[in-house]
Amino acid sequence: MSEKLYHEITPEGFGIAIEKDEDLYSEKSPYQVTDVFHSRAFGNVLTLDGLMMVTERDEFFYHEMIVHIPMLTHSNPENILVIGGGDGGTVRELLKHPSVKHIDMVEIDNIVIEASKKFFKSVSCELDNPKVSVLVQDAIEFIEGKENIYDIVLIDSTDPIGPGEGLFNEKFYNNVKRALKKGGIVTPQTEGPFAQSENMRKTYALLRKVFKNVAPYCGPMPTYPGGYWSWGFCSDDVEIPTDYTKIDEKRAQEIAKTCKIYNRELHSAVFAVPNFVKELANG
Ligand code: SAM
Repeated sequence: MSEKLYHEITPEGFGIAIEKDEDLYSEKSPYQVTDVFHSRAFGNVLTLDGLMMVTERDEFFYHEMIVHIPMLTHSNPENILVIGGGDGGTVRELLKHPSVKHIDMVEIDNIVIEASKKFFKSVSCELDNPKVSVLVQDAIEFIEGKENIYDIVLIDSTDPIGPGEGLFNEKFYNNVKRALKKGGIVTPQTEGPFAQSENMRKTYALLRKVFKNVAPYCGPMPTYPGGYWSWGFCSDDVEIPTDYTKIDEKRAQEIAKTCKIYNRELHSAVFAVPNFVKELANG
């Protein structure tokens, strides 16, 4: 492979290749290696231990999906927890919602935050917003003992390996549930349905043990393995939003104006998933 080529081969044995113009940054933390390079196809690209994390050009596919489906399903989301999310894209999308009073973002690796502030200004642009507390610590420890605080919890994590492994287990999901207020919603990123089907199957088997209402929603994500991604909608009190006419039209339209993906019709359409995804999620 030309050294001018970034390639990711996932444990599943396939991945992605992107032509590199220039290596911009590389730092090792106790948790992972953060690399940033520039590409003509995707602008700046950030990888963690060589695995694709975020690109300037396609990050909106992921960040709009993980945020606006739970946020616009909830009647008045004020207090939000973001687990991981060090690039800041999830926080940026959350702050489009006027109901938001406070966001805790718990990211284990400060290097990811610093690299994003330096090389992904359009993604990290709201990390210094006064409504945001950036807490650099392990979310597994942070969530212990939290009760009845958050309206929405977004688990914007890496894959279930390394520091992210402990974010995909029953104890952690029970701790997250305890931290929710009544009417709360949890949305984890739940991996690639085609590329990481076993990860997804295991994740939903655990989510179904913890939450009453659990459903995947899916969408394209060009630079992630298989180009197709999933997120989970989990709640004990809120039904899966399969009827967009029940989503507040004015709120949805205000958000849709600022988005490249999200709109009110798509809000319920994303839950119409292929049969193989239903099987992965329903066990
Ligand atoms: N938002 C990006 C995207 O477009 O998909 C990818 C997710 S974000 C970069 C994943 C973050 O989860 C990483 O910054 C990683 O450091 C963080 N993370 C992994 N394990 C963690 C843990 N146990 N506690 C807190 N953050 C963690």
